[in-house]
Amino acid sequence: MSDTHYDLCIIGGGINGAGIARDAAGRGLSVLLVEGDDLGSGTSSASTKLIHGGLRYLEHMNFRLVRESLAEREALLRIAPHLVRGMEFVLPMGKGGKRPIWKIRLGLWLYDLFAGSSRLAHSRFIRNLGSESFGVPLRPEYKKGFVYSDAWGDDTRLVVLNAVDALENGADIRLRTICTGIQEDGKLWSVALHDRFTEKDYSVHASAVINATGPWVGRFLKGTGLGDGDPELPGVRLVQGSHIILPRQLNGEESYLLQQKDGRVVFVIPYENDFTLVGTTEVDFNDDPKDAEASEEEVAYLCEAYNMAFKAPVLPEDALFTFSGIRALVEQGQKRVSAISRDCQIYHHKGLPLPLISIFGGKLTTYRAQAERAVDMVSGLLNVVTDPWTDTQALPGGDFRGGGLDVFIESQCARYPWLPPSVLRRYAQAYGTRMDRIVGEGDSLACLGHYCGQDVYEAELRYLVDHEMAQTDEDILWRRSKLGLKVTDETLENIASVLSTL
Ligand SMILES: Cc1cc2nc3c(=O)[nH]c(=O)nc-3n(C[C@H](O)[C@H](O)[C@H](O)COP(=O)(O)OP(=O)(O)OC[C@H]3O[C@@H](n4cnc5c(N)ncnc54)[C@H](O)[C@@H]3O)c2cc1C
Repeated sequence: MSDTHYDLCIIGGGINGAGIARDAAGRGLSVLLVEGDDLGSGTSSASTKLIHGGLRYLEHMNFRLVRESLAEREALLRIAPHLVRGMEFVLPMGKGGKRPIWKIRLGLWLYDLFAGSSRLAHSRFIRNLGSESFGVPLRPEYKKGFVYSDAWGDDTRLVVLNAVDALENGADIRLRTICTGIQEDGKLWSVALHDRFTEKDYSVHASAVINATGPWVGRFLKGTGLGDGDPELPGVRLVQGSHIILPRQLNGEESYLLQQKDGRVVFVIPYENDFTLVGTTEVDFNDDPKDAEASEEEVAYLCEAYNMAFKAPVLPEDALFTFSGIRALVEQGQKRVSAISRDCQIYHHKGLPLPLISIFGGKLTTYRAQAERAVDMVSGLLNVVTDPWTDTQALPGGDFRGGGLDVFIESQCARYPWLPPSVLRRYAQAYGTRMDRIVGEGDSLACLGHYCGQDVYEAELRYLVDHEMAQTDEDILWRRSKLGLKVTDETLENIASVLSTL
């Protein structure tokens, strides 16, 4: 393969790598993004999917992070109105919680204050939980509580949409391509790559490199020797967080934030219509992040957390699926994991002759701002003047002109009266205005091509392969969508058979 020169090579296609690629490509830099597996296949598909200020960070006086996260929550509601939506969280007060009511009241007051003129509702105190529909499933010990607002969205699709926009802004994106090392070659980095499909090794040149390998950040630096002898290199603590997916337990649309005896909090979230998501845990982790897997203890901990709050108990064997992700937290001597900041450190390796930046830690919520800071830094190092642009420009499909998702769905119902409402809603939430590219000028279901079963049509699969870089059925079932939660073996076989013809 011929050698090529890029301004910037980004290693890692999680939310940080994809967000940086979008921002940098849109500023006119020539960008290569390499991802060793699929987009979002690391931590970015294993988060709780909250787009939130982080109420808990107030306890650690991390006001700057909360303010930034709340501002970013608004930005994402604006630029990805199809994917990111407001959600109400019930915070019951009762057994388990160590925090007194006054402390939570103060925290929520600050949260609302920092959120400024948010489009989401302010928090409220609930004097009698039992008189509210969302209080009914709770155990009777929980008499009072609060309701506050945050946002939530599909983490992996957020990665994919950033990558798609980067691609459309001219970035070169190579999936299943592992970066095996970088070394100085005159005035450029020589970046060694391995193509996992063809098993070929080759190299490209780049003026600057960003190591956005998430929980692999330390491994990458160690493997390449690039961090050796740097006394300022941030220390990383890897922490596993697991979730369980249960059959839907609660009728309401509200989520719950449950305080635990150990001071942690566990979220219970309605998930993909038919499921309930419960997470997360925090366990120190020392292996390869790709081997992260929920342990029996973690599943039991999450069931216990759930059962402490709700009348109808769940058992570990009720969990239909589990998933685990690894956080790379920047450690500064804290013993308790929950006390370590979720802030992001964008680290310029100053001892090296050429620009290398590593991304340590961070949040899904703040990815856009993190990416902006990283691209500002790269631009400075490359001596080019570029302007930030991503806080106002919609992500692909998010260009709703006036009105939110509900208004959009209403207009699409009028436009495609023949499309089953469940398909239309799913397309609108996942693809926004880009659903028109799937449905096209069609006037009947026959226009969507082969039917695979369970609302899956050939046209969607074709779109994901042609426009969203899907390469395998797993990419489609688990990362471009969450169809994997529901499809039967028969539908799966049909999907595989359609994919083999594309
Ligand atoms: C359990 C859990 C829950 C969380 N919940 C939330 C939440 O609700 N809200 C929130 O804001 N944040 C949350 N976070 C944090 C958020 O998920 C992470 O900050 C974010 O996903 C990290 O993204 P990343 O791009 O840095 O890493 P990743 O998503 O892990 O991306 C790194 C990528 O680099 C690739 N890679 C690694 N090495 C190489 C190589 N040599 N060559 C090529 N590619 C390589 C990997 O395959 C991977 O895809 C949570 C984290 C965890 C663990």
